Amino acid sequence: KGTVVLAATPIGNSSDASDRLKALLERADIVAAEDTRRLFDLANRLGVRVGGRVIAYHDHNERDKSDGLLDQVETGATVLVVSDAGMPTINDPGLAIVRRAIERGLPVTCAPGPSAVLDALALSGLPTDRFCYEGFLPRKHAERMQYLRALQGERRTIVFYETPHRIADAMDDLLEGFGPNRPMALCRELTKEYEEIRRGSIAHIRETVISDPPRGEMVLVIGGASDEEAQAAAPAALSVEDMAVLAI
Ligand code: SAM
Repeated sequence: KGTVVLAATPIGNSSDASDRLKALLERADIVAAEDTRRLFDLANRLGVRVGGRVIAYHDHNERDKSDGLLDQVETGATVLVVSDAGMPTINDPGLAIVRRAIERGLPVTCAPGPSAVLDALALSGLPTDRFCYEGFLPRKHAERMQYLRALQGERRTIVFYETPHRIADAMDDLLEGFGPNRPMALCRELTKEYEEIRRGSIAHIRETVISDPPRGEMVLVIGGASDEEAQAAAPAALSVEDMAVLAI
Protein backbone atom coordinates (compact mmCIF):
# COMPACT_ATOMS: atom_id res chain seq x y z
CA LYS A 1 0.00 0.00 0.00
CA GLY A 2 0.99 3.60 -0.56
CA THR A 3 0.23 6.57 1.69
CA VAL A 4 -1.68 9.80 1.76
CA VAL A 5 0.62 12.62 2.88
CA LEU A 6 -0.79 15.98 3.92
CA ALA A 7 1.93 18.60 3.60
CA ALA A 8 1.99 22.16 4.86
CA THR A 9 3.18 24.83 2.44
CA PRO A 10 4.56 28.30 3.28
CA ILE A 11 2.06 31.01 4.29
CA GLY A 12 4.14 33.75 2.68
CA ASN A 13 7.82 33.09 3.09
CA SER A 14 9.10 30.46 0.66
CA SER A 15 12.08 29.72 2.91
CA ASP A 16 9.67 28.10 5.37
CA ALA A 17 9.23 25.17 2.98
CA SER A 18 10.64 22.04 4.60
CA ASP A 19 13.08 19.69 2.91
CA ARG A 20 10.42 17.04 3.34
CA LEU A 21 7.88 19.13 1.41
CA LYS A 22 10.37 19.62 -1.43
CA ALA A 23 11.21 15.92 -1.58
CA LEU A 24 7.53 15.03 -1.58
CA LEU A 25 6.80 17.47 -4.41
CA GLU A 26 9.51 15.81 -6.45
CA ARG A 27 8.71 12.21 -5.59
CA ALA A 28 5.00 11.80 -4.88
CA ASP A 29 3.17 9.81 -7.55
CA ILE A 30 0.18 12.13 -7.42
CA VAL A 31 -0.07 15.69 -6.11
CA ALA A 32 -3.61 16.74 -5.18
CA ALA A 33 -3.42 20.54 -5.07
CA GLU A 34 -6.06 23.10 -4.15
CA ASP A 35 -4.99 25.23 -7.12
CA THR A 36 -2.69 23.62 -9.65
CA ARG A 37 -1.32 26.93 -10.96
CA ARG A 38 -0.34 28.01 -7.46
CA LEU A 39 1.28 24.62 -6.93
CA PHE A 40 3.51 25.12 -9.96
CA ASP A 41 4.31 28.68 -8.83
CA LEU A 42 5.40 27.30 -5.47
CA ALA A 43 7.50 24.55 -7.08
CA ASN A 44 9.22 27.18 -9.26
CA ARG A 45 10.00 29.35 -6.26
CA LEU A 46 11.39 26.34 -4.41
CA GLY A 47 13.40 25.26 -7.43
CA VAL A 48 11.87 21.78 -7.51
CA ARG A 49 10.24 19.86 -10.34
CA VAL A 50 6.89 18.26 -9.58
CA GLY A 51 7.48 14.66 -10.54
CA GLY A 52 4.03 13.08 -10.37
CA ARG A 53 0.60 13.64 -11.84
CA VAL A 54 -1.09 16.80 -10.61
CA ILE A 55 -4.80 16.99 -10.01
CA ALA A 56 -7.04 19.81 -8.76
CA TYR A 57 -8.38 18.96 -5.33
CA HIS A 58 -10.49 21.70 -3.77
CA ASP A 59 -13.52 22.35 -1.58
CA HIS A 60 -15.94 21.62 -4.42
CA ASN A 61 -14.60 18.26 -5.54
CA GLU A 62 -12.73 16.80 -2.56
CA ARG A 63 -15.52 14.39 -1.64
CA ASP A 64 -15.80 13.09 -5.20
CA LYS A 65 -12.07 12.84 -5.78
CA SER A 66 -11.04 11.21 -2.52
CA ASP A 67 -12.04 7.64 -3.35
CA GLY A 68 -10.26 7.68 -6.72
CA LEU A 69 -7.10 8.94 -5.06
CA LEU A 70 -7.37 6.30 -2.36
CA ASP A 71 -7.76 3.59 -5.01
CA GLN A 72 -4.31 4.70 -6.18
CA VAL A 73 -3.00 4.52 -2.61
CA GLU A 74 -4.35 1.00 -2.45
CA THR A 75 -2.15 0.07 -5.42
CA GLY A 76 0.96 1.60 -3.83
CA ALA A 77 0.88 5.28 -4.80
CA THR A 78 1.99 8.15 -2.58
CA VAL A 79 -0.65 10.88 -2.80
CA LEU A 80 0.51 14.29 -1.65
CA VAL A 81 -2.23 16.73 -0.58
CA VAL A 82 -1.34 20.44 -0.51
CA SER A 83 -3.43 23.57 -0.22
CA ASP A 84 -2.61 27.09 -1.38
CA ALA A 85 -0.95 27.98 1.92
CA GLY A 86 -0.44 26.48 5.35
CA MET A 87 -1.84 23.23 6.66
CA PRO A 88 -4.33 21.30 4.55
CA THR A 89 -7.66 20.73 6.38
CA ILE A 90 -7.34 23.98 8.37
CA ASN A 91 -9.98 26.02 6.52
CA ASP A 92 -8.63 24.30 3.45
CA PRO A 93 -9.29 21.04 1.59
CA GLY A 94 -7.99 17.76 2.93
CA LEU A 95 -10.41 16.53 5.57
CA ALA A 96 -12.47 14.46 3.12
CA ILE A 97 -9.52 12.30 2.09
CA VAL A 98 -8.34 11.90 5.70
CA ARG A 99 -11.78 10.65 6.71
CA ARG A 100 -12.09 8.27 3.79
CA ALA A 101 -8.54 6.96 4.35
CA ILE A 102 -9.43 6.21 7.98
CA GLU A 103 -12.66 4.49 6.92
CA ARG A 104 -10.85 2.41 4.33
CA GLY A 105 -7.97 1.56 6.66
CA LEU A 106 -5.39 3.25 4.43
CA PRO A 107 -2.29 5.00 5.77
CA VAL A 108 -2.35 8.74 6.14
CA THR A 109 0.46 10.88 7.50
CA CYS A 110 1.51 14.50 7.63
CA ALA A 111 4.56 16.59 6.80
CA PRO A 112 3.72 19.47 9.15
CA GLY A 113 4.76 23.06 8.77
CA PRO A 114 3.47 26.62 8.70
CA SER A 115 -0.06 27.49 9.71
CA ALA A 116 -1.33 31.00 10.39
CA VAL A 117 -3.24 29.86 13.52
CA LEU A 118 -0.20 28.88 15.56
CA ASP A 119 2.02 31.62 14.16
CA ALA A 120 -0.49 34.30 15.24
CA LEU A 121 -1.23 32.66 18.58
CA ALA A 122 2.44 32.47 19.49
CA LEU A 123 3.06 36.10 18.50
CA SER A 124 -0.08 37.48 20.16
CA GLY A 125 1.36 37.50 23.66
CA LEU A 126 -1.96 36.05 24.89
CA PRO A 127 -2.21 32.77 26.82
CA THR A 128 -1.32 29.82 24.62
CA ASP A 129 -1.91 27.01 27.10
CA ARG A 130 -5.56 26.74 26.07
CA PHE A 131 -7.04 28.19 22.92
CA CYS A 132 -9.82 27.62 20.46
CA TYR A 133 -9.71 28.13 16.73
CA GLU A 134 -12.92 29.48 15.23
CA GLY A 135 -11.98 29.82 11.56
CA PHE A 136 -13.70 32.66 9.67
CA LEU A 137 -16.47 34.61 11.38
CA PRO A 138 -19.86 34.48 9.65
CA ARG A 139 -20.12 37.13 6.90
CA LYS A 140 -23.42 38.69 7.92
CA HIS A 141 -23.74 41.02 10.89
CA ALA A 142 -26.69 39.25 12.56
CA GLU A 143 -25.10 35.81 12.34
CA ARG A 144 -21.76 37.17 13.42
CA MET A 145 -23.29 38.74 16.53
CA GLN A 146 -25.11 35.53 17.39
CA TYR A 147 -21.85 33.65 17.00
CA LEU A 148 -19.88 36.12 19.12
CA ARG A 149 -22.53 36.12 21.84
CA ALA A 150 -22.19 32.35 22.08
CA LEU A 151 -18.46 32.89 22.68
CA GLN A 152 -18.83 35.61 25.33
CA GLY A 153 -18.09 33.21 28.19
CA GLU A 154 -15.24 31.38 26.43
CA ARG A 155 -12.21 31.48 28.71
CA ARG A 156 -9.69 30.20 26.24
CA THR A 157 -7.80 32.48 23.85
CA ILE A 158 -9.84 32.66 20.64
CA VAL A 159 -8.33 32.67 17.14
CA PHE A 160 -10.25 33.90 14.06
CA TYR A 161 -9.28 34.31 10.43
CA GLU A 162 -10.42 37.55 8.81
CA THR A 163 -10.24 39.34 5.47
CA PRO A 164 -9.34 43.01 4.79
CA HIS A 165 -12.75 43.89 3.37
CA ARG A 166 -14.60 42.66 6.44
CA ILE A 167 -12.19 43.68 9.19
CA ALA A 168 -13.85 47.06 9.96
CA ASP A 169 -17.30 45.48 10.40
CA ALA A 170 -15.80 42.58 12.34
CA MET A 171 -14.12 44.98 14.76
CA ASP A 172 -17.42 46.81 15.36
CA ASP A 173 -19.05 43.49 16.19
CA LEU A 174 -16.16 42.30 18.36
CA LEU A 175 -16.49 45.51 20.36
CA GLU A 176 -20.22 44.92 20.76
CA GLY A 177 -19.83 41.23 21.55
CA PHE A 178 -16.82 41.24 23.87
CA GLY A 179 -16.72 44.86 25.08
CA PRO A 180 -13.90 47.40 24.61
CA ASN A 181 -11.32 46.11 27.08
CA ARG A 182 -10.39 42.59 26.11
CA PRO A 183 -6.80 42.28 24.93
CA MET A 184 -6.29 41.19 21.36
CA ALA A 185 -3.75 40.98 18.57
CA LEU A 186 -4.28 41.59 14.87
CA CYS A 187 -1.56 39.63 13.06
CA ARG A 188 -1.10 40.60 9.45
CA GLU A 189 1.02 39.31 6.57
CA LEU A 190 2.74 36.75 8.77
CA THR A 191 6.17 35.59 7.57
CA LYS A 192 6.07 38.20 4.77
CA GLU A 193 8.05 41.40 4.28
CA TYR A 194 5.33 43.62 5.76
CA GLU A 195 4.45 41.42 8.71
CA GLU A 196 2.76 43.53 11.38
CA ILE A 197 1.30 42.66 14.78
CA ARG A 198 -1.03 45.18 16.40
CA ARG A 199 -1.64 44.47 20.07
CA GLY A 200 -3.98 46.22 22.48
CA SER A 201 -7.58 46.35 23.67
CA ILE A 202 -10.40 45.63 21.23
CA ALA A 203 -11.29 49.36 21.32
CA HIS A 204 -7.70 50.34 20.51
CA ILE A 205 -7.34 47.89 17.64
CA ARG A 206 -10.68 49.06 16.25
CA GLU A 207 -9.36 52.64 16.27
CA THR A 208 -6.23 51.60 14.36
CA VAL A 209 -8.34 49.69 11.84
CA ILE A 210 -10.26 52.91 11.14
CA SER A 211 -7.22 55.21 11.04
CA ASP A 212 -4.92 52.79 9.21
CA PRO A 213 -6.90 50.03 7.47
CA PRO A 214 -4.87 46.83 7.50
CA ARG A 215 -4.27 45.13 4.16
CA GLY A 216 -3.36 41.59 3.25
CA GLU A 217 -4.02 38.37 5.11
CA MET A 218 -4.80 38.53 8.80
CA VAL A 219 -5.55 36.57 11.94
CA LEU A 220 -7.32 37.94 15.03
CA VAL A 221 -6.39 36.59 18.43
CA ILE A 222 -8.70 37.59 21.30
CA GLY A 223 -8.12 37.11 25.02
CA GLY A 224 -10.54 34.73 26.73
CA ALA A 225 -13.27 35.78 29.15
CA SER A 226 -12.28 36.82 32.68
CA ASP A 227 -14.01 35.12 35.64
CA GLU A 228 -16.58 37.92 35.80
CA GLU A 229 -17.24 37.83 32.05
CA ALA A 230 -17.58 34.05 32.10
CA GLN A 231 -20.01 34.22 35.00
CA ALA A 232 -22.05 37.00 33.38
CA ALA A 233 -22.29 34.93 30.20
CA ALA A 234 -23.31 31.70 31.94
CA PRO A 235 -27.01 30.95 31.62
CA ALA A 236 -28.73 32.20 34.77
CA ALA A 237 -29.45 29.46 37.28
CA LEU A 238 -33.07 28.32 37.29
CA SER A 239 -35.17 29.89 40.02
CA VAL A 240 -37.42 27.77 42.23
CA GLU A 241 -40.40 29.12 40.30
CA ASP A 242 -38.84 28.05 36.97
CA MET A 243 -38.25 24.58 38.32
CA ALA A 244 -41.82 24.38 39.54
CA VAL A 245 -42.99 25.24 36.02
CA LEU A 246 -40.66 22.62 34.50
CA ALA A 247 -41.91 20.00 36.93
CA ILE A 248 -45.54 20.39 35.77
N1 SAM B 1 -4.64 26.44 5.77
C1 SAM B 1 -4.21 27.78 6.10
C2 SAM B 1 -3.41 27.75 7.41
O1 SAM B 1 -3.03 26.66 7.85
O2 SAM B 1 -3.15 28.80 7.97
C3 SAM B 1 -5.38 28.74 6.18
C4 SAM B 1 -6.13 28.89 4.90
S1 SAM B 1 -7.42 30.06 4.97
C5 SAM B 1 -8.26 29.75 3.45
C6 SAM B 1 -6.64 31.60 4.59
C7 SAM B 1 -6.64 32.53 5.79
O3 SAM B 1 -5.55 32.20 6.65
C8 SAM B 1 -6.42 33.99 5.44
O4 SAM B 1 -7.64 34.64 5.09
C9 SAM B 1 -5.86 34.55 6.74
O5 SAM B 1 -6.90 34.79 7.67
C10 SAM B 1 -5.02 33.36 7.21
N2 SAM B 1 -3.64 33.50 6.73
C11 SAM B 1 -3.01 32.72 5.82
N3 SAM B 1 -1.75 33.16 5.61
C12 SAM B 1 -1.58 34.23 6.42
C13 SAM B 1 -0.50 35.12 6.67
N4 SAM B 1 0.65 35.02 6.02
N5 SAM B 1 -0.67 36.11 7.58
C14 SAM B 1 -1.84 36.24 8.24
N6 SAM B 1 -2.90 35.43 8.03
C15 SAM B 1 -2.78 34.44 7.14
